[in-house]
Amino acid sequence: MKSLAFASISDLKAKLANREITSHELVDFYSQRFAKYDKQLGSALEIFNTESVLEKAINQTGPLAGIPGLIKDNICQNGRNATCASKILTGFQATYDATVIEKLKQAGALLIGRANMDEFAMGSSNEHSAFQKCLNPWNEECVPGGSSGGSAAAVAAGLVPWALGSDTGGSVRLPAAFCGIVGMKPTYGRVSRYGMIAYASSLDQVGVLSRTVVDNAQILNVIAGYDPKDSTSLNVPKPDYLKALDESLRADFTIGVVDNALNAEGLDAEIKQAVEQVVSFYGKNLNIKIKHLKIGSLDYSAAAYFIISRAEAASNLARFDGVRYGMRSREAKNLYEMYADTRHDGFGDEVRLRIMVGNYVLSEGHAGKYYHSAQKVQHMIRKELVETFKDVDLLIMPSQAMPAFKIGAFDKNKLQMDLQDYFTCFVNLAGLPAISVPCGYSKEGLPIGFQLIGPHLSEAILYQAAYQYEQAHAWHERRPTKFE
Ligand code: GLN
Repeated sequence: MKSLAFASISDLKAKLANREITSHELVDFYSQRFAKYDKQLGSALEIFNTESVLEKAINQTGPLAGIPGLIKDNICQNGRNATCASKILTGFQATYDATVIEKLKQAGALLIGRANMDEFAMGSSNEHSAFQKCLNPWNEECVPGGSSGGSAAAVAAGLVPWALGSDTGGSVRLPAAFCGIVGMKPTYGRVSRYGMIAYASSLDQVGVLSRTVVDNAQILNVIAGYDPKDSTSLNVPKPDYLKALDESLRADFTIGVVDNALNAEGLDAEIKQAVEQVVSFYGKNLNIKIKHLKIGSLDYSAAAYFIISRAEAASNLARFDGVRYGMRSREAKNLYEMYADTRHDGFGDEVRLRIMVGNYVLSEGHAGKYYHSAQKVQHMIRKELVETFKDVDLLIMPSQAMPAFKIGAFDKNKLQMDLQDYFTCFVNLAGLPAISVPCGYSKEGLPIGFQLIGPHLSEAILYQAAYQYEQAHAWHERRPTKFE
């Protein structure tokens, strides 16, 4: 069964259809891989027992029938714990399925566990999980990226074929790049957020992590679409992303190279080089028109993101008060103490810090200077990108400033940690879709990814362009040796 570990979704479907394997055996197989490797790797907070996974399977014939997947622990699965990797949600059990979970179940997918993450999706390294560290399968001294680090590490190590993550400022694309896999962050509103525990509601979007573009498109096909339960869901037709892969790009297709991103201070030289090679592949090998341009507002996006995300987090996380969900401080002598102690003991340092910053930037006397200014920057970013996409079909730039860093590397340098979002968070501020695709390895053997960004609802084109690159390169065939 060794060959199954890194098998694609299509291969698994074929094996199930030919009765070479049953879905029961498949779930057992991946559970055993988690049992063997994950004590060390730390990618999952829980792997459910096989029987209970199969009990919840409601469709034997759907497009994902019998295909196991892992779900980030901020997405509610009925009857399962949902903790957002936070102590404050200890013991909380979801009482309904998120819309994406409902859709996956209807498609026949087998949801085998809950992925580790940064607490409440706040982080770029997965070091903020309240429960356990998650390591990078390519080098266990390094972080897997965050906040969907567990989802990315599990997929990269061949512990599961695909996983769901969430992306508020880069949390699908950054761990995908750090772990050498594909990460898609769809257009804001393309995928329902109903049942996903909010970090910053106007930026959050569920995304897909997989080893190949084809696998990724198969999952988005299932989870995308209008949902009346999410007021920000877009009521527009959904293309077949898998079919779109076979279509070719328009003759005058143009990719814009974000020059100021490629020349950004602090961008690792190997990453710059790898992305430049991708540009030359599109330009020279595929004969796609390349246009060099600048996104002036890029430099302001991390600051605006910092303020808006903290502001929304402070208000979203107000609901965790010891009354309604999960943990409650038992020693408190009165109601006030119960709120304060629960929140003090339940939230980790990073989350508490963000709530404080969020309340500060929203507070009377400061909101104008911070929150409203950040919103103005956000409008500027959106406007600039809408203008940019009048001239080019997609943008290309790095996904990450550096390869995966060592655990603890930025313990004393929070600014450096926050700047990990530099290349990704403007995409969320503008509500755009973007995909990170593997494009090489550093001298140290750590994965490098590039990012394609498109106008609203251009997921099909992003997949097409990514697929053309992937078909001509073999990066996705490399495996972290220990997990063969
Ligand atoms: N690193 C970013 C943050 O900490 C992004 C998080 C995310 O996308 N969930 O806010």
